[in-house]
Amino acid sequence: MASEPTTVTITGAGGQIGYALLFRIAAGDMLGPDRPVRLRLLEIPQGMRAAEGAALELQDGAFPLLRDVDVTDDPLTAFDGTSIALLVGARPRGPGMERADLLAANAGIFGPQGAAIGAVAADDVRAVVVGNPANTNALIAAASADPSLPADRFSALTRLDHNRAVGQLAAALEVSPGDIADVIIWGNHSATQFPDVAHGILADGRSLLEALAERLGGSEAASAWLDDAFIPRVAKRGAEIIEVRGSSSVASAANAAIDHVRDEQLGTRRGWTSAAVVSRGEYGVPEGLVCSFPVISRGDGEGYRIVEGLDLDDRARRLLDASVAELAAERDAVRALGVL
Ligand code: NDP
Repeated sequence: MASEPTTVTITGAGGQIGYALLFRIAAGDMLGPDRPVRLRLLEIPQGMRAAEGAALELQDGAFPLLRDVDVTDDPLTAFDGTSIALLVGARPRGPGMERADLLAANAGIFGPQGAAIGAVAADDVRAVVVGNPANTNALIAAASADPSLPADRFSALTRLDHNRAVGQLAAALEVSPGDIADVIIWGNHSATQFPDVAHGILADGRSLLEALAERLGGSEAASAWLDDAFIPRVAKRGAEIIEVRGSSSVASAANAAIDHVRDEQLGTRRGWTSAAVVSRGEYGVPEGLVCSFPVISRGDGEGYRIVEGLDLDDRARRLLDASVAELAAERDAVRALGVL
């Protein structure tokens, strides 16, 4: 077992996703069974009691990997020496709140957090934004840490969308999710995202498109299923969970955040996954936008790398462009606020 614990900071740690995350991280689900962790829980003053309560329960878990737990409302304390930051706490959209108000409120959270990470985090820090609007919050955090920290240390979560897509395909094809590789979520973590199966393969070597056509009675039926059932269901799955469960998709969001960090730190396994990372112009996405791409990690400390060179047909291009246009509009709205 590595003797030096890895410092992990969770913001909004007193909230629902925080509660679902903390115990799995302490149990070793994120960094593996041989890496001890030190947890730093950041909250706003109103959330401190909830985070302190979670810290008491962490103690009661008697986790062998958990070295210590600090609860604070000061970003500089929370991010001091941290190697992994999960930025979960965000300002939810209130009744009658315009998009510009939401972006402004979140800029007031993610700007100072990015600056604090740039100022005091460990040299190897990597931060993933979970709190929505996640892509643009990551853009703000990265810009606020600049130039002290490379922007590519910040990413945003689209792994839940990716996992949802894999789950839907596994059910439709009656295979295990582990048999499905190389699905892609392109674009924004929003209803404009484009879940793309054109490059996907099954463990038996068949392409996903081939397998869907066999299962659904031809390639036209497969295309109709993808456009009319699969894509809207993945994009609107959050609303479906709220309707059925009466509460948001907290556990699957926490699970996806753990998958994102684990694969980034330890390496992706078979094929690629999806994450929103800073564009350097790949696939024509304007430089600097935090956009979801197919990514791999070698687990060598370099983080996620975009898988390049995939062909996009006209339909895919159109769907990606629409989501990228939304990301650019969010960036422009933030610029108009004078944040970037
Ligand atoms: P949750 O823990 O349920 O959600 C936190 C964020 O995750 C929200 O922005 C939410 O977006 C987002 N999210 C992303 N994916 C999902 C998903 N699949 N399902 C649900 N949420 C998702 O919120 P709580 O209100 O329970 O907790 C937030 C905590 O953050 C509070 O304790 C609050 O005090 C704290 N906070 C901390 C801050 C800080 O540390 N500086 C700043 C602001 C808040 P969406 O709103 O779109 O659902």
